[in-house]
Amino acid sequence: MRIGQKRGGSCAINKIQIKCCACGSTVLLRKTDTIQLVALIYKAEWNAPTWKMPQDNTKRAVAIVCDKCHREGRTPKEAIEIDVNHGGKVSFHALEELKRTETIA
Ligand SMILES: [Zn+2]
Repeated sequence: MRIGQKRGGSCAINKIQIKCCACGSTVLLRKTDTIQLVALIYKAEWNAPTWKMPQDNTKRAVAIVCDKCHREGRTPKEAIEIDVNHGGKVSFHALEELKRTETIA
């Protein structure tokens, strides 16, 4: 248990609803066992969350998927953006609207 978290799950993160980037279902984080991130080979035009290869500086997009899609290996259709400068506003970007980066060897 972390500081600020109350017994019974009234911590703020338990109230966050996240849409799965593969099936589109909305999952309350407290009802999912884990938060599964998928690293995408599409360029991210936003600040977070992203990932990079050590040898280049290209920010790449990330998807969040529900436990079921992660287990079944479903491919995400969208990437997630969380704007920490605007109260953690969550946006989704369709992958076909993003620029592909080179594949990872
Ligand atoms: Zn899903």
